[in-house]
Amino acid sequence: MPDTIDYAGRPFDRVPFESVLRRRFFFTESFESYRQASGFKGDNRGLFDYGPPGCALQANIVALWRQHFVLEEEMLELDCTALTPEDVFKTSGHVDKFADWMCKDPVKGEYLRADHLVENVLEGRLKGDKTARGIAIKQEEKSADAKKAKTAVKDVKAVKLDDNTVREYEEILAKIDNYDGEALGELIKRFDIRNPDGNNEVQPPIPFNLMFKSSIGPSAAAPVYLRPETAQGQFLNFRRLLEYNNNSMPFASASIGKSYRNEISPRSGLLRVREFLMAEIEHFVDPLSGKKHDRFDEVKHIELALLDRDTQLAGQTGTVQVPIGSAVERKIVDNETLGYFLARVQLFLVKIGIDIKKLRFRQHLANEMAHYACDCWDAELLTSYGWIECVGCADRSAYDLSVHAKRTGEKLIVQEQLPSPLKVERWEGTLEKKKLGPRFRKDAKFVEMAVSELDQESLEKQAAILKQEGRITLTSPVPLADGSATLDIDSDILTIEKVTRIESVREYVPNVIEPSFGIGRILYSLLEQVYWHRPQDSARGVLSLPLPVAPTKVLIVPLSSNTAFLPIVKKISQRLRAIGVSSRADASSASIGKRYARNDELGTPLGITIDFDTVKNGSITLRERDGTKQIRASEDEVIDAVKALVDGTEALEEVFSRLPEFTGQETE
Ligand code: AMP
Repeated sequence: MPDTIDYAGRPFDRVPFESVLRRRFFFTESFESYRQASGFKGDNRGLFDYGPPGCALQANIVALWRQHFVLEEEMLELDCTALTPEDVFKTSGHVDKFADWMCKDPVKGEYLRADHLVENVLEGRLKGDKTARGIAIKQEEKSADAKKAKTAVKDVKAVKLDDNTVREYEEILAKIDNYDGEALGELIKRFDIRNPDGNNEVQPPIPFNLMFKSSIGPSAAAPVYLRPETAQGQFLNFRRLLEYNNNSMPFASASIGKSYRNEISPRSGLLRVREFLMAEIEHFVDPLSGKKHDRFDEVKHIELALLDRDTQLAGQTGTVQVPIGSAVERKIVDNETLGYFLARVQLFLVKIGIDIKKLRFRQHLANEMAHYACDCWDAELLTSYGWIECVGCADRSAYDLSVHAKRTGEKLIVQEQLPSPLKVERWEGTLEKKKLGPRFRKDAKFVEMAVSELDQESLEKQAAILKQEGRITLTSPVPLADGSATLDIDSDILTIEKVTRIESVREYVPNVIEPSFGIGRILYSLLEQVYWHRPQDSARGVLSLPLPVAPTKVLIVPLSSNTAFLPIVKKISQRLRAIGVSSRADASSASIGKRYARNDELGTPLGITIDFDTVKNGSITLRERDGTKQIRASEDEVIDAVKALVDGTEALEEVFSRLPEFTGQETE
């Protein structure tokens, strides 16, 4: 592949790049005409429609994902609904905790995500951005002369931030994800951070839940949310999955589907959207296995660029290149299963065309982690928007299965036959079922649930109370019919005793390692990374997409509109279809060079040209997109070569050195 844009050296120009994506209809803003229509009150930000090449590229990435993960690892695939009852997300913690901090600009009535506001303004000041530097001057001069400070915003001259301020800003930026709402509010005050659009002061950060709420059916009594991740459906099907897997552990489930997040202020194209395709894996593992992975040996030599938590907390952002085997051994990465997936994620991203130099793995800071995670590493890709999280790899421990089991009473556990029986002493609560129903009526099941939720420690404590007072009071898992929240249970209904049992089965709640892929983010980052233009043609770009993901594999171009070429075009596209290779014919009147250039923008890797020699002797030419090299051979030889290239059994260089070179044709 030729040199693509190098963010460190040559600046990436997003304008022509975005123009290619728009012109060639990779994707477009949804409901664009409505946004421009008078009287439209809606908000279409963060919503995008994919056009034909975008759909094909996405489908190819998903197909490779399925092959690389689901097939290769024999994962159990699920397709669950996006509409999810509120109760599920109350239990999972999303209703209370799935939120971002936002600040309101009271003058403009605009809402800004607090961490992004701080990040953008500080980065702007570091870069010497005009408005932002103006604010920096204002801050410095504020106490001295408020009037002068105001004019400074408009009248920015060469003002340099002193070294201490630069260091301080850099340290804050390195750990920006670690600040909670209060800490972000302090930063905003301390550095006089304002809305860059209009320079208004903003109000202190408040949490905003990111889930879309609706209700099922005509009454509003059944609240639902659109899922913000596919994971919950996988957890709730755990028992069936385990059964399907013949009760064998460990195993992984996988799901590809749309997720929805009501982002506060989505502004970075496909990178931050409100509806997006997710591909998620939930790998269920025995916590007592040390989270070992039996295929870890296959990947342990693979080097990853790691940016760990301690480095970020020290205010730095440099990565270290470490074989994953050594990273796990040194406990930089907690366990083999997490390490295995990080390596597999890297292999996948490189396979679809991501530049390994523009990929790093960053560990989450403690405050940044989602409420369900105990460790998390993000695969981040370098784009013109900076490093972007594209795959989150979280250790969700036993959190989700435990909370759902507690709420529903369904046993989300693994039962494992022990090699020899064990004598176990345990506290157990037993309910007198005959009295339970008549006394508690509709609430009887909540009594059962409340008792079953008591762990060993609570059972021991409650046994003492029951003995002493003849009654205990438990919190009901859900509010009761009469509005109360507690259940009084007498000793004639409940007994709590320590029993000794011989057990031949061990029961445990599995832990979960979850790699979670945002397909849209990966797709966009890939497009940026493979975009470039030829020195002689800056108006047209080239997308050096690898063959397996390219939307169309082969372009068929007849030399002219001469009718002699038509049956040959038809035959070749039919032959390509028969071997499962997607092609498009371009029989327009534009020159061959123009037609090739148009398809370079679509990332079409191969081109077949049909000319008068084809009519005479059946030979055709094959062109490769990046180097524009051409060879000429018989139709059979070229079709075989295309198949070998698409199947990956032969490399481009091999084909183009094996078959005779052709130097005619590609002219304007
Ligand atoms: P998370 O559950 O927040 O770790 O997200 C998992 C993955 O979903 C991320 O790595 C992203 O690739 C993707 N993702 C999350 N939020 C968005 C969004 N608003 N727009 C596009 N992709 C997203």
